[in-house]
Amino acid sequence: KEVLDKGLAKTKESVLKKMTRAVVGKKKVDDDVLDNLEEVLITSDVGVDTTIRIIERIEDRVARDRYINTSELNTILREEIVALLAENEYGETGNFELPSDKKPYVIMVVGVNGVGKTTTIGKLAHKYKSAGKSVVLGAADTFRAAAIEQLEIWANRVEVPLIKQKMGADPASVAFDTLSSAKSKGADVVIIDTAGRLHNKVNLMNELTKVKKVMDKIIPGAPHEILLVLDGSTGQNAFEQAKQFSKATEVTALAITKLDGTAKGGVVIGVSDQFKIPVKYIGIGEGVDDLQVFDRKAFVDSLFG
Ligand code: GDP
Repeated sequence: KEVLDKGLAKTKESVLKKMTRAVVGKKKVDDDVLDNLEEVLITSDVGVDTTIRIIERIEDRVARDRYINTSELNTILREEIVALLAENEYGETGNFELPSDKKPYVIMVVGVNGVGKTTTIGKLAHKYKSAGKSVVLGAADTFRAAAIEQLEIWANRVEVPLIKQKMGADPASVAFDTLSSAKSKGADVVIIDTAGRLHNKVNLMNELTKVKKVMDKIIPGAPHEILLVLDGSTGQNAFEQAKQFSKATEVTALAITKLDGTAKGGVVIGVSDQFKIPVKYIGIGEGVDDLQVFDRKAFVDSLFG
């Protein structure tokens, strides 16, 4: 809780200021207060569509209860956002547990360069390893030499094997090697990096499709998780990337990074709701332990607490 509060401090502080202003001089939640609340949510990067959904839910409650004191607004807002987030919840593998019928459990990680993809893979590898699982990483972002090098640094740091080829190699071939190696070792979890070039959507789609096909051939059903990494500090850009990637492949989970140092934390609520994809992890720092399994209640309580 303390770690989360600290990680989300900037958004918290900004939300608190705006919420205080939204109800100043008001005893009752009325249309003015709801208008102000709408502005609070939109300027906190919750996104227009999701903001409207939240306001509608609160309007329903106001209509039902007739009189709501502004001192209760915060509690009601939290309840409604938690309920909204429950529509897209990652049920299967909280706390770095793995489904026992999927071994190795294969995670394909997608996202634009710079969003924190490599760091998230490193942190995940560390978490799984600390939980006693054997991990294999695959460097299938063969487009940039730096991507392979960065992933290697993380692999060495957290002491897990990395399967790689030369820069420019076929990503599907790296995926093939990685899954073959993991299978023969009896590894518990495989995490594969992929190239994040958005400038050519067709290429991106073709590449991801090809990588997936190879995975499924070696381990039927793989990848079991397609994790899209988004940079929370980019606000509306994160929405655009979620849109592009969900067109290119079947994203099953989100990791939203860099929530420390930004006031745009509301993006977590909006992206998940708008694209109907559960948030599985949040990144709140550069360190190896700064990755948390997303807990919607803890998150909302921290943000609006
Ligand atoms: P990639 O290009 O997507 O693989 O991005 P990297 O993993 O190399 O990360 C880019 C930069 O963002 C690095 O300096 C990371 O340390 C930093 N970073 C990644 N995740 C977080 C986070 O949750 N919080 C903060 N503050 N920085 C992060």
